[in-house]
Amino acid sequence: MTQANSVAATFDLLGDRLTLSILRQAFVDRARRFSQWSDRTAAPPAVLTARLAALVDAGVLVRAPRAGSADRYEYRLTELGLGTWEILVCVWAWQREWTPEWTLLPELVHTECGHRGPPVLLCRSCGRTVTTHDTDVELDPDALWHLTSGRRRSMRVADPARGDARFDEIMEAIGDRWSAAVTGLALAGVRRFSDFRAALNLSPTTLTERLTRLVEAGILQRAEAGGREYRLTHRGRALFGVFAFLLAWSEHAHPEAPEPGLRIRHKECGAVLLPGLRCRGCEVVLGRRDVRFEQGPASPGQSAATPSEP
Ligand SMILES: [Zn+2]
Ligand SMILES: [Zn+2]
Repeated sequence: MTQANSVAATFDLLGDRLTLSILRQAFVDRARRFSQWSDRTAAPPAVLTARLAALVDAGVLVRAPRAGSADRYEYRLTELGLGTWEILVCVWAWQREWTPEWTLLPELVHTECGHRGPPVLLCRSCGRTVTTHDTDVELDPDALWHLTSGRRRSMRVADPARGDARFDEIMEAIGDRWSAAVTGLALAGVRRFSDFRAALNLSPTTLTERLTRLVEAGILQRAEAGGREYRLTHRGRALFGVFAFLLAWSEHAHPEAPEPGLRIRHKECGAVLLPGLRCRGCEVVLGRRDVRFEQGPASPGQSAATPSEP
């Protein structure tokens, strides 16, 4: 095993359309079997097999024999895998607010108080609500290269999860390590083309291509301010929660790894951000077992469910 940067390894594993789709279905639809994911994602079998194997290798899923079924194995989320729930909640919350796909999405429900809808991000150290404006993203200069110079995944299949259109928009922003790194740097306050280039060690052509895609996806906007600059749009800035939980999970998944050199600090209390989620209804800090996704009435063309009192 090489000394992979833990954040790079996390972007590499989870910054993938099909992988997020697999996890979402494991959580929301309780998918356990190859055939269930295969039906729902329409991914080519070899690609799906590779992603499941990568999730098993990473300790996110565990594979167990399964008797009396066409599927010889089933895959279950491990404790580490279950720990991705906050990332998925943030991905869901972003999609709900910023994409036209939100009517297709299930609803998040806080079981105890019945509140439906996205929770808010908080700092577990001091208990206060956190936004990008209350935090500093700190980057060690020598960490950047490691963030992006690790082993590259072989060519991805262009659209392995076409059957699951729900991730299309967010995947422009975090769909591969490079996009994830560019978006992460933008959240850290990097704006100038030359600074992105220095940080990522990318060729100008490749970097331009990445930045252009992020502009087209409405994550960044281009500005001329005595040079080429790229700033996050509101939509891009709203990805903050996803990144905060990706970083936190990355540390949880790689406890032995050296400090990744990328951290978010909560300005008000000074602590490195340990993010949590708080219910907007009753203000309680949420645990994984406190919430559930509920499929809405989801018939196409029908307007969203009327929020009902519990
Ligand atoms: Zn704090
Ligand atoms: Zn609540």
